[in-house]
Amino acid sequence: MKEESGNKDHEDDPLRREITWCKGVGPARALILNRLGLFRALDLLFYFPRDYHDMRDFKTIDQLVPDKLQTICGEIARWDIRSTHRGQIILLDVLTNNEYLQAVWFNQPFVIRNFAIGRRMLLTGKPKIKPTNYSRWQMAHPNITWLPDLTDEEKDLPPSELLSDPFLPVYPLTEGLQHYHLRKIIKILLDDLPDRLPEVFPKDFLEKHHLMSIADAVRNIHFPSDPDHLEQSRRRFIYQEFFILQLALAIRRQQHQTGLKAPIMERTTKIDSRIRRLLPFEMTRGQNKVVQEISDDLGKPVPMNRLLQGDVGSGKTLVAVYAILQTIACGKQAVLMSPTEVLARQHLANIENLLKASRVQIAPVFGGQTPKERATILQKIQSGSAQLIVGTQAIICSEINFKDLGLVVIDEQHKFGVRQRAHLKSGTGFDPHYLVMTATPIPRSITMTLFGDLDVSILDDLPPGRSKVTTSIVNVDQRAKWWDFFRKKLKQGRQGYIVVSRVNEQDDEDLRSVISTYEDLSAGILSDFRLAVLHGKMPSAEKESIMNRFRNREIDVLIATSVIEVGIDVPNASLMAIENADRFGLAQLHQLRGRIGRGCFPGFCALFPTDRSAIRITNEEIAHISNPGEKEKRQEEAREKQMAESLERLQIFEKTTDGFELAEKDLELRGPGELFGTRQHGVPPMMIADLIRDRSILQEARKDAWDLVLSDPGLCDPDHKKLRKQLLLRYGKLLDFGDVG
Ligand code: ADP
Ligand code: MG
Repeated sequence: MKEESGNKDHEDDPLRREITWCKGVGPARALILNRLGLFRALDLLFYFPRDYHDMRDFKTIDQLVPDKLQTICGEIARWDIRSTHRGQIILLDVLTNNEYLQAVWFNQPFVIRNFAIGRRMLLTGKPKIKPTNYSRWQMAHPNITWLPDLTDEEKDLPPSELLSDPFLPVYPLTEGLQHYHLRKIIKILLDDLPDRLPEVFPKDFLEKHHLMSIADAVRNIHFPSDPDHLEQSRRRFIYQEFFILQLALAIRRQQHQTGLKAPIMERTTKIDSRIRRLLPFEMTRGQNKVVQEISDDLGKPVPMNRLLQGDVGSGKTLVAVYAILQTIACGKQAVLMSPTEVLARQHLANIENLLKASRVQIAPVFGGQTPKERATILQKIQSGSAQLIVGTQAIICSEINFKDLGLVVIDEQHKFGVRQRAHLKSGTGFDPHYLVMTATPIPRSITMTLFGDLDVSILDDLPPGRSKVTTSIVNVDQRAKWWDFFRKKLKQGRQGYIVVSRVNEQDDEDLRSVISTYEDLSAGILSDFRLAVLHGKMPSAEKESIMNRFRNREIDVLIATSVIEVGIDVPNASLMAIENADRFGLAQLHQLRGRIGRGCFPGFCALFPTDRSAIRITNEEIAHISNPGEKEKRQEEAREKQMAESLERLQIFEKTTDGFELAEKDLELRGPGELFGTRQHGVPPMMIADLIRDRSILQEARKDAWDLVLSDPGLCDPDHKKLRKQLLLRYGKLLDFGDVG
């Protein structure tokens, strides 16, 4: 039997035909287009412009500025062809408002084909000042748009009214491909192909939500007839992209709510007062509020799936401990996981201390344990004699058998995402409740996407007795004075951190490594004090012992990498200096600064910007410049720009202590990819939507999608068939929708 139906289908469907089938695409150009990921006609339709050239916006000669892309409107006055040793040059003089501009082409004899005296055109290019016989301005290799000859009525119309394409699309190109070609290929396809595109939204849905049809949207996103149509077409695609993601999240949540069963662990008044008696402080208003939310969830037969957001130092640990104790009081086991071992051990120490007076059995699970130790611990977990298991996220991957797991608490969740929210087996056939905590305030648009299927609790106050932290940018000439201050505070009994960005990185030799900073300081400015180094690559036993000595005030200053970023809590440490502070993002700086001002002593945080000489410019554009003078100049410019940007960021940080505000700013400055590693989170990158710019569309699409899933949970309505197909295509694998398809 021949298997031909699949292929034949494709050939019959003009949308899926090979790109070579399109007009204007020969084998050579097809290869170039393939390099851009374009293989079928359909791909071209969805190859969206990155910008538009507004053809209505022509300049007159006296408005031109050098080296910027601009358009003039004029008519051909004369042209000339010259041969030189370098080849053929075509010179064209264009008359515009009684003045001339000269266009030049090298070795492109074919441009002449359409020339005729008096023919009207738009010339688009980057003009340079280069006085010739007639003109002061010259444009090399400009783009020509021919204008129709004018009829009598048209003579009085402004030329912008006569353009068939008032906006020209600007595409991401590759070598060997000109705009002229790509525009032409796509323009031809737009004639009839868009009408064949399947419309995923039902007709009344489009109307109700004021969405452009897919066919109109595709046409207008390439060649918009006016700014409003462009806006509408973009809105349609952005909306669709968000909508499908939100459908996925809503369905995932729906399945979670109806498909999984969790143990009911109800809080009685007796349990509540027993827990509160154990805790060393009164809970804050905020802690009480989120404890209530969590506690209610734990009492339901549906697994909790809650994200607890609270700024650094807001007291999330106490909230977690409450939930853990509620779990244990109901006879179940709980797990507490942290991203690093330092943090896990700190939790362990804190909780052991907190629960000294109780009979709670705690089992640590760490990498460095001997096989015998480990076997004993695993045995205790399996038998149920261990009630609370504390460790790093390695617990997810290890083969632990629980007797009856009721709750999993994950600290600092933002480090890993949707995909890694792994399922621990409870040992009973029930699913455990999940509480994930993060100290990185997450902008709402990110919460709605990456964590869109979770319930959110926000801890919005700080425990009493917090001290103010003063932040200052300290430039090279002020360093000595700052160190004097630092020493004075240390003599008064305070402790401090010096944060260095990375450990001994060969490819970044100018970066002051932790070790050399330690050596410099201990031999110099801080020779009177007890210093120690802490970094991620140290054996964990050593890290642990250093942290203990720091906590016990046997060490005055910790010189550390950003391992101290998350969670470390030593109230007496009130000083911090951050080297190369500009190399950290705002959210990360905020985390770092959160380590100080935790006790009754006011905190002081110094930001040391990177020395100008140490700023390396790794700009691909510059790498290709061979002229050393030009290269130096461009490098200097780039350095200048980078310094200005860093300074702006550090100044924002100097002024702001609100974590949410910093998070929003960080998102704006660096984008979601870098900030939250969207890709690692398992959410495919957005093609056209932008989480910051398009926030309001996101909110709208989210609401509409969740409403739809409420009314048709399985998307079974025939009207929703195409939506379901889209959903599976894009998110099926990621979200494990075995049973929706
Ligand atoms: P984070 O939210 O950053 O994890 P922690 O849980 O480490 O914050 O708490 C920060 C500090 O605040 C700890 O020293 C903790 O003991 C203290 N703390 C937490 N809750 C309270 C409270 N209700 N009253 C007083 N201090 C508290
Ligand atoms: Mg914490």
